Amino acid sequence: MVTGPLAEMLARNKAFAKTYTAPVGLKTMASGMRSSRAGVVVLSCSDPRLNPYQILGIDSTLKATMVRNAGGRAFDAIRTLSVLQAIGNPATIVVMHHTDCGLTHFHDSDIKKDLLEIAPSNAQEINASSFGEITNGVDASIREDVSLLRASPMIRSDTQIVGLKYDIDTGALTEISV
Ligand SMILES: [Zn+2]
Repeated sequence: MVTGPLAEMLARNKAFAKTYTAPVGLKTMASGMRSSRAGVVVLSCSDPRLNPYQILGIDSTLKATMVRNAGGRAFDAIRTLSVLQAIGNPATIVVMHHTDCGLTHFHDSDIKKDLLEIAPSNAQEINASSFGEITNGVDASIREDVSLLRASPMIRSDTQIVGLKYDIDTGALTEISV
């Protein structure tokens, strides 16, 4: 039995499904995306305070999709970006990091300390892992991740890769040149 906020969410889904209209099938969508190269992939943080669809005014007229992880870090997103590239061949990938990000406050040492308490027998693996800490501000993490994607052999070299900083206090985006 599901309890807590998810129970409310599941109740809301029942209402959602009543008026739902199915989109076009994956193969139809993918072939249109590949031929138009209209797709934009936004890599951003999982922080629930930011909604990339709202921030960028994305609606059904714009072909955008999201990859989200802690910090919006590129090393953690390569698998998904590779899959999206194979399916929809987007012409643009956006790296969007934000001010007051959790990874600027909680560093790898904090995350490792937490994990070592949960899984002490996995100490070797935990200590060898990188969790994407941001220690020099988000301008630097954006530049690092744009550079990583531009240099990645897994990402098509003709992909436009753009770095954006989202100011969580003002809602404004600033392009970070790399
Ligand atoms: Zn964040």
